[in-house]
Amino acid sequence: MAQIERESMEVDVLYVGAGPATLASAIHLMNQVEAWNRNAEKAGKVPIEPPTVLVLEKSASVGDHMLSGGVMNPRSIRELVPDFEQQGFPTEYVCNYPGFWVFHPKGKIALPSFATPPNFRKKGYHVVSLNKVAKWMAERAERAGVEIYPGFAGDQIRVEGGRVVGVRTGDMGVDKDGKPKGTFQPGMDIFAKVTVLGEGVRGSLAKQLIDRFDLHGSNPQNFETGIKEIWRINPEKHRPGRVVHGMSFPKILDGFHGMWLYDMQDNLVSYGFVTMLDSKNPNTDPHLEAQRFKTNPWMKWLLEDAELVRYGAKAIPTGGLYAQPKLYHDGALLIGDAASMCNAQNLAGIHMAIKTGMLAAETIVDALAAQDFTAKTLGGYTERYRKSWAYDEHYQARNFGASTERGVAFFMLNEPIRMITGGRGIQDEMKTEAGHRHMKRLAELPVHKREREAFSFDGVLTFTKEHLVGFSGAAHEVDQPSHLVVADTDLCRDVCAEEYGNPCESFCPAAVYEMIDDPERPGKQKLFIHHENCVHCKTCDIADPYQVITWTPPEGGEGPDYTQM
Ligand SMILES: Cc1cc2nc3c(=O)[nH]c(=O)nc-3n(C[C@H](O)[C@H](O)[C@H](O)COP(=O)(O)OP(=O)(O)OC[C@H]3O[C@@H](n4cnc5c(N)ncnc54)[C@H](O)[C@@H]3O)c2cc1C
Ligand code: SF4
Repeated sequence: MAQIERESMEVDVLYVGAGPATLASAIHLMNQVEAWNRNAEKAGKVPIEPPTVLVLEKSASVGDHMLSGGVMNPRSIRELVPDFEQQGFPTEYVCNYPGFWVFHPKGKIALPSFATPPNFRKKGYHVVSLNKVAKWMAERAERAGVEIYPGFAGDQIRVEGGRVVGVRTGDMGVDKDGKPKGTFQPGMDIFAKVTVLGEGVRGSLAKQLIDRFDLHGSNPQNFETGIKEIWRINPEKHRPGRVVHGMSFPKILDGFHGMWLYDMQDNLVSYGFVTMLDSKNPNTDPHLEAQRFKTNPWMKWLLEDAELVRYGAKAIPTGGLYAQPKLYHDGALLIGDAASMCNAQNLAGIHMAIKTGMLAAETIVDALAAQDFTAKTLGGYTERYRKSWAYDEHYQARNFGASTERGVAFFMLNEPIRMITGGRGIQDEMKTEAGHRHMKRLAELPVHKREREAFSFDGVLTFTKEHLVGFSGAAHEVDQPSHLVVADTDLCRDVCAEEYGNPCESFCPAAVYEMIDDPERPGKQKLFIHHENCVHCKTCDIADPYQVITWTPPEGGEGPDYTQM
């Protein structure tokens, strides 16, 4: 495109993403500035000018791209809003039954409470819809003077002289060949003294920042993909306060996975299944695993006569402490899942996101007071984090991911030792490999594992990806460049098909990738990308064995509609 005239604006603090991390941070920032100024007045010191604060969110309205289990440790929301319950926080139920169940071919066994793993003892935790939580937090942030722009995706970080100076939002109204349409609107440059990246898992701007300035942690980041479904069940089977985690036996011997089941208001249940993205088998399919799990006799009983309400998927960062990147750079901070703050051992990241957002806010107050937005002052965020309970929690879980990576036998041996040695286990600071590196070529697998497994979806309990995408609300304009950028599609056709059997068709939970017959090369196939189906889970950006897929934000406002999720 010819040289484009772009609008620009300036703010003091720019947040990218309107998730629990950024919204908590923005609320806390406004509260802390007020508190600072009250003290300054008493002490006769110069007050801080109330900052201009802007939050960009790629979904059409706040919360629409939120997907979480979600059973929430209330610790940090209580720190942020001490009377959050009285303020109408959208709790579905408070957990009164934290169960850990082992599902087997004939049903399930509920472990007695003394045998429930400590990380799943969640009595008193709040079952929430993160979609509703984000809306509740956004209202509070706006009341405190924060501006929120939904429908605006951060597309590129802006860097000047090695310092982050803001973000460019994505262009809108571009056709599939990259030409401007009648509706063309160029992206805007938003300049900020501090840019806080809270885009959640595998944030596209966070990825740019971490790669460009080599902020990587000591271990590579690892991930799992969670499939979530909400069902409306028979009221007689509904059990308010039930929070179940579990696994499938003997399947667990083949590799780690997990499931959850939380009851929500209106006879809804949140069901989810989590698959690690470090499988040896390129045919591993998180959607299929989630469907298959529902054929367990107890799950069948639960979902008999039930109605499917919603479907979605999202990756979860599991690398933990040693995969956490450097959390700051000149002009920039990383918070929440974008900074690997999820505690995968507990499948709990909401409270960590809120807490790290708050710690970042306190650091920004220091920066505003000193008018210094360099790494020197912003580095205070790392110090605060290291002194916080959030760090202690991560320290206790520090070897969890590496322990799962060593396989079930090692894990079973290491877990009890890890528990009694404060998280150390047999070995400390265990090294890990990026999940995609575990994937084997088809020729290296036993013959019976080379083919994709045939599974017959019944359309009542189990569904195809194509059918389920309809329950995610995903919508994208077709006439635009695909936001899934595959650097070399010849590789897919000529090399990957042979070596790995095109695993993108398996790992994508929304049937976005399809190898279709190539009319120009009889007998050969080529990659077709149904980008309009994408549910923004980020799995392809993570799991592709050649690392040639880059997830980029589509036009602002597009994507899934995760109402209730
Ligand atoms: C399947 C699953 C189950 C989970 N279960 C639980 C649970 O039960 N309990 C728990 O505590 N935690 C759970 N977690 C983890 C928890 O949801 C996350 O740790 C938490 O949501 C992270 O918050 P965040 O604010 O960092 O990111 P997110 O909640 O992911 O929010 C990021 C926001 O940024 C927006 N965004 C991203 N990129 C851009 C961009 N370039 N421009 C503009 N906007 C952008 C996104 O649309 C999104 O709204 C689960 C996660 C998953 C995926
Ligand atoms: S295309 Fe990628 S990000 Fe989109 S749904 Fe498929 S795997 Fe997830």
